[in-house]
Amino acid sequence: MTVAIYPGTFDPFTNGHLDIVQRAIKLFDRVIVTVARNSSKHPMFSEKERLSLIRESVKGIKDVEVEPFDGLLVDYARERKATAIVRGLRAISDFEYELQMALMNRKLNNSFETVFLMPNEKYTYLNSNIVREIARLGGDVSEFVPEAVYKALLDKLKK
Ligand code: ADP
Repeated sequence: MTVAIYPGTFDPFTNGHLDIVQRAIKLFDRVIVTVARNSSKHPMFSEKERLSLIRESVKGIKDVEVEPFDGLLVDYARERKATAIVRGLRAISDFEYELQMALMNRKLNNSFETVFLMPNEKYTYLNSNIVREIARLGGDVSEFVPEAVYKALLDKLKK
């Protein structure tokens, strides 16, 4: 049984994230989407909201779980018996940071690998920051995020 974790902040979960989950589940028996608390980043959506929006967005995909996480990723991976950490690579600009994280994680624990997956090219310009910004300015983000996230963004911005 192969288990991978897919960690991120997911503030909010986008179609790019969903694309990576769909690719990862073809490679592993189980994928755990691991939601970092990241209170220092002051996320737009609370941990509870992010968890529930991701669960709603991946509910049609078998063997995908969504869990909160706080602490050292490598400890969490070991605890969950994961053999891989999945990350998405959109462009060269992602590479430097991702390489550093992957090598540091390997240094901390050599028993699993970081696996990089490339999304469909139509998602390569997409990130949660841009989605939040466009939504705040009243732009239409419906084609960039799952339906539940779209509704939640509209609700949040009404308040
Ligand atoms: P973090 O704060 O850890 O970077 P994110 O939620 O921004 O978390 O992203 C989680 C992972 O998903 C990262 O590996 C990131 O590169 C990847 N990712 C984000 N947006 C996309 C996208 N549009 N397509 C593919 N991968 C993406």
